[in-house]
Amino acid sequence: MPNPKIAVVGSCNMDIYSWTEHLPEPGETVVGDRYKMVMGGKGANQAVAACRLGAEVTLVGRVGDDLFGTRMLETLASYGVSCEHVRVDPGAGSGVALVVVDRKPENVIVVIPGTNMCVDPADVDAAAVKIRAADVLMMQLEIPLETIDHALDVARWGKTFCILNPAPARTVPDRILQKAHLVTPNQNEARVLTGIAADTLEGAQAAGLRLLEMGAASVIITLGAQGALLVCPGQVRHLEGIHVQDSLDTSGAGDAFMGGLGYGLATGKPVEESIRFANVVAALSTRRPGALPAMPCRDEVEDFILERRLNIRLNKFD
Ligand code: ADP
Repeated sequence: MPNPKIAVVGSCNMDIYSWTEHLPEPGETVVGDRYKMVMGGKGANQAVAACRLGAEVTLVGRVGDDLFGTRMLETLASYGVSCEHVRVDPGAGSGVALVVVDRKPENVIVVIPGTNMCVDPADVDAAAVKIRAADVLMMQLEIPLETIDHALDVARWGKTFCILNPAPARTVPDRILQKAHLVTPNQNEARVLTGIAADTLEGAQAAGLRLLEMGAASVIITLGAQGALLVCPGQVRHLEGIHVQDSLDTSGAGDAFMGGLGYGLATGKPVEESIRFANVVAALSTRRPGALPAMPCRDEVEDFILERRLNIRLNKFD
């Protein structure tokens, strides 16, 4: 079976963490203990998550003409993500998040979207052949809505299945929700999109049904450790989360879920089986710290599925 093809139109970021005794007051300089640079951005995270599972992934985006941009391209390439459509913007700065964490731990964060907000419809057009040849297109909300809207038009000319992960939380015009085949908020994002509190199963179901009324074709609301809720016309289904004893850090779990979901659907698994697969991928990602380096590889996921005797088909036996 050929590797499934996934296109991601999305963001790349460099997150720079520093740790201090206390957070600086306005005008104050504090001396920190250490710092760490971690590559992220929801586009990059989801691209790597799907790539680690065995998909052929093309990322469409932009980085700046700076050290971070170079480093991000190297990192993506080291994971096997195709970056031929990640444009290096001359003279522009990459997307960066500056995070200061104190002992409590509380933090302050400055996010500079940088070149992510320059990803434009022309970038999508340049990658149109790849997007239309992909089994699945995945997008998030860290690039301009205009670009997302255009990518949905381009993809729908082909047979590409379009997933919109409306993260981070913000409102989205109904027109865009209507063009995606699948919309996948977490509980907070579902609340922001619909105005309905989605922090219980009943609330999530109500928010999912509201999204269908707004024109979404189908919806998956992720529920943290509780798994995910599928809401389609005439069907609501709760797919339980996977308990892992050594769960350590849930940052990036949503992106791991998206990588697993995109991969499952691209390999032709039905949606419920794809969600169960994504729940496994996301749960395994919580066993390692960070987002990008925590994404599990295909062997790890398949060994876990066999060990737990989960009813999910393994591609290596196809
Ligand atoms: P986000 O990371 O975007 O906030 P969620 O918290 O809903 O999104 O988590 C996304 C997915 O990650 C869930 O649907 C579930 O599969 C998995 N997940 C999250 N937290 C845990 C956990 N503590 N244990 C196992 N799986 C988890």
